[in-house]
Amino acid sequence: MTSPTLILPERSHAIASDLRATLGGDKVKDDYSTLIAYAVDASMYRMTPKAVVLVESEEDIAATVRYAVQRGIPLTPRAAGTNLTGSAIGSGIILDVSRLNRILEVNRDEQWARVQPGIVLAELNKQLSRQGLLFGPDPSSGDMCKLGGMLANNSSGPHTLRYGAVKDNVGALRVCLQTGEWLDARAYWLDDPACADLLKAQGPLRDLRSVVQDNAELIARKRPIVSKNSCGYNLFGIADGLARGCFDLPKLFIGSEGTLGLFSEATIRLVEVPRATLTALVHFYRLEDVGEAVPKLLELYPSALEVMDANTLNLIGRAKHGIPADAAATLLVELDDDARGIDLWAQANRMLEICRRFRLTSDPLLALELEQREQLWKARKALYPTLYRFDPRKKPINFVDDVVVPAERISELIRYLEEFFEEQRVPVAIFGHIGNGNAHIIPLLDVNNQDDFQKMVRGYSEIHQTVLDRFGGSICGEHGDGRVRAEYVKTMFGPELYDLFVRVKQSFDPTGVFNPGIKISDRPFTDHIDYERLSKSCATCAKCNAVCPVYDVFQSEDMSSRGWFEIVTDKNYSYLNSKRVVEACLNCKSCRTACPAGVDVSQLILDRRAENPNEMAGSIFRFHAQTARFERLLKFLARYQSIWDRPLIRRLLDRLTKPFLHRLAETARLSPRLVLPRLARQHLRDRYPELIPDTGQATRSPVAYFHGCAANYFDDGVGDAVIAVLRKHGVEPDLPPQRCSGTPIETYGHRTLAKEGARVNLASMAGYEKVVTGCASCTLMLKDYPILFAGEPEQGAAEALAKRVTHISEFVSQSSVKPAMASPQPRTCKVAYHSSCHLRAAGVTKEPRAILGGMPGFDYVEMPDADRCAGGAGTYLVKDFETSQRIVERKRRAVEQSGAEVVATSCPACMIQLRTGLQGTAEVKHVAQLIQEAYEAADKL
Ligand SMILES: Cc1cc2nc3c(=O)[nH]c(=O)nc-3n(C[C@H](O)[C@H](O)[C@H](O)COP(=O)(O)OP(=O)(O)OC[C@H]3O[C@@H](n4cnc5c(N)ncnc54)[C@H](O)[C@@H]3O)c2cc1C
Ligand code: SF4
Ligand code: SF4
Repeated sequence: MTSPTLILPERSHAIASDLRATLGGDKVKDDYSTLIAYAVDASMYRMTPKAVVLVESEEDIAATVRYAVQRGIPLTPRAAGTNLTGSAIGSGIILDVSRLNRILEVNRDEQWARVQPGIVLAELNKQLSRQGLLFGPDPSSGDMCKLGGMLANNSSGPHTLRYGAVKDNVGALRVCLQTGEWLDARAYWLDDPACADLLKAQGPLRDLRSVVQDNAELIARKRPIVSKNSCGYNLFGIADGLARGCFDLPKLFIGSEGTLGLFSEATIRLVEVPRATLTALVHFYRLEDVGEAVPKLLELYPSALEVMDANTLNLIGRAKHGIPADAAATLLVELDDDARGIDLWAQANRMLEICRRFRLTSDPLLALELEQREQLWKARKALYPTLYRFDPRKKPINFVDDVVVPAERISELIRYLEEFFEEQRVPVAIFGHIGNGNAHIIPLLDVNNQDDFQKMVRGYSEIHQTVLDRFGGSICGEHGDGRVRAEYVKTMFGPELYDLFVRVKQSFDPTGVFNPGIKISDRPFTDHIDYERLSKSCATCAKCNAVCPVYDVFQSEDMSSRGWFEIVTDKNYSYLNSKRVVEACLNCKSCRTACPAGVDVSQLILDRRAENPNEMAGSIFRFHAQTARFERLLKFLARYQSIWDRPLIRRLLDRLTKPFLHRLAETARLSPRLVLPRLARQHLRDRYPELIPDTGQATRSPVAYFHGCAANYFDDGVGDAVIAVLRKHGVEPDLPPQRCSGTPIETYGHRTLAKEGARVNLASMAGYEKVVTGCASCTLMLKDYPILFAGEPEQGAAEALAKRVTHISEFVSQSSVKPAMASPQPRTCKVAYHSSCHLRAAGVTKEPRAILGGMPGFDYVEMPDADRCAGGAGTYLVKDFETSQRIVERKRRAVEQSGAEVVATSCPACMIQLRTGLQGTAEVKHVAQLIQEAYEAADKL
């Protein structure tokens, strides 16, 4: 069956305006930026849609379906867009279910939950874990993929070995059919009157039953013999049900990739969170031994058994991950202590015994603690995007990425593949779920090069055919057929069974609007390859979306880190057509910290902003640079703050400043709800004249304190605390002359101005052994000066400074002096840490936590989402107060859940934001303040 030719209206906005009239303006988008952002998923393809609908209810879904069917417009459902097959992109309407992201009901006793399709797997499990429950299937993309996509792809992951794939863990689905009617797709007993009613009402269900009943023998004959399969429609599951007297409808829809109906809800089966888990990393000297070890290890009933071959280990960097140079393959084994109450250590010993029968290259690594276990998994989980770092032209291409063979033949498969690619001289990573015989094969190719392109085409047929003929396997274990494997589904199952798939598709989707080109299509897999994007640095994996605070709030790809990469690197980008989105980024750098491919989206956005600096911000920063005049104004404001900071006057100020702030951003305002810090009447530098070196004087101390603007101008005790802590450690710091580090200046596009200040700082900080900071943003900016001055004469000095920048928490941790600490308050109180984004990006995450963890009088709790942006981001809470408050809401809930009475952080903007957002739920303090208080308390004893 060829994808149907569908009638498309001439102009895209005809579709969008029709849909807007039905659904309301906020839910429908068709501007340039939105269409570019939705033109990609994590596959190698590109298709630009005509409109995007962000549905918020079942009515929205049904109305969109009816409209698409009436007009014959392709309709592609989409969740997180992390599929690797091109199944969440399309030429018509994209229906994004991300805003339907709630858990509707959890039944702890019966272990099930009703869940909407837009929830991210990690979030779902985080919420369920509070009740000791878990959804078993765990794709490695779990931090970003959403339930809707997992259902439609029949996803699975490392722990499928224990828990099965999605199809084994779903009780019911709510499915919107082509008619716009809703089907409660569950398992119906054939003698249940409800089943008879359903069959009477729904022609496609009658067709399905007879197709399967009439062809039971063919279906049984063609059933894949391997342990996993997501290729084609799961008529095998329907046939199994009918044989038991049951019409098991979820089996058809799970894995149907949006081609038969759209889900608004699923009832999923849950399992108990294991009481303890042990992860082991075992390095084998010979690949063949892995194949022999696997059946023996499977007897231990592991919950996961993963393999990475030698090429993969080379590509991800052995030294970086502590992998021995002579390892031919590495196995990840996981053992759970669950309801069966096994003795983990006894199991682990048996596992070691089995492994040691083979030649290992080093002692296996074992980990019980979550953090260490995550460390062992880290390389495996980020593998695919990490491969993007390998070569600027040769990219990991997913075209034979998901084959399945009998588990005991996996080494034979790996050996075959290694030889095949060696002969082609193509670097390749082979890894996967060895316990299920499911191998992910990722060759690195430059598809813009004819030679490599031909290698891809040849490899596509040869490898798939070998998997079918020689191994009796499946071409698709878990990633779905999408565009990439659609061409081969017929070969996998043969024309007769394929014909049944076509009949099912035609029956459920007679107009062919549901995700055309996917699964049931004879278009070549090379159609719609995005050659241009495959030469760029981004793997479009969406890992950054999972941490982007703007995406978290808007749940729309045009307001996300991955979307912004697409937009700002698009050949038709202009500031005018994309201002809305380019100005929405907080510059929090969370994307940069998360990206396994080493892409810095925030930097690309800053580059674009630098092309269009904001004039109003420029005037403010130029005034700011005239230090004496600027500080006079601040002191004047400080003197009268008790008057102008009153609620009534703040409301008036909000109104009066609006026209002025509008020139900063349309959304900018000085909200009366914003809890402003007290401005200092005497600035930090005035309070510590003895620490200021005379002009031209040589450095007097090995340590400079770079206080930045906030600690100097705010009367919040942070600067005093940093100085007091340094003194306690025997250091009398210098406060050399300094200008704004440059973060806010660059954020508004004034790079030249930022550099001007940075040059002053480079010169005045040059002679110090250490430059201590208290502010997260200053820390990162100073460490990032080499990026600011890349290729310029200052780069060397910038690199030298970057090495010497030390956050106060690092300083305290590294110091050989260990002053006594005591509890500053009579009773123990709970303290949590909010990890400021810029400090995380600067690589400082453990030290503040370790200090807080060891502080007398405090019970340190790790709060949920501690590593997520709070939405302050310098002046963002003025630039877009409403969005910043939507972002901080998640943090407020996290603080509440943790029960923390004090939230410690390391950034002045975070402090303002947390004080505004927490609304008194907890006290907010800088880490340095808590350290200072503990030292002072000890002095008083
Ligand atoms: C780094 C990385 C690692 C990965 N690891 C794994 C892995 O270990 N195992 C694995 O199985 N996959 C893996 N994948 C692939 C992918 O993440 C999974 O298939 C995932 O479940 C897709 O979810 P999604 O929310 O991104 O869906 P999307 O990509 O948005 O959509 C996937 C399919 O679901 C359909 N769909 C979405 N929502 C609905 C709905 N409400 N109703 C009907 N159809 C819908 C779409 O039309 C599309 O056909 C990985 C991907 C990446 C980038
Ligand atoms: S920027 Fe990085 S994390 Fe984001 S989609 Fe691209 S590769 Fe993935
Ligand atoms: S800097 Fe922050 S807001 Fe901007 S794209 Fe990255 S994660 Fe999103």
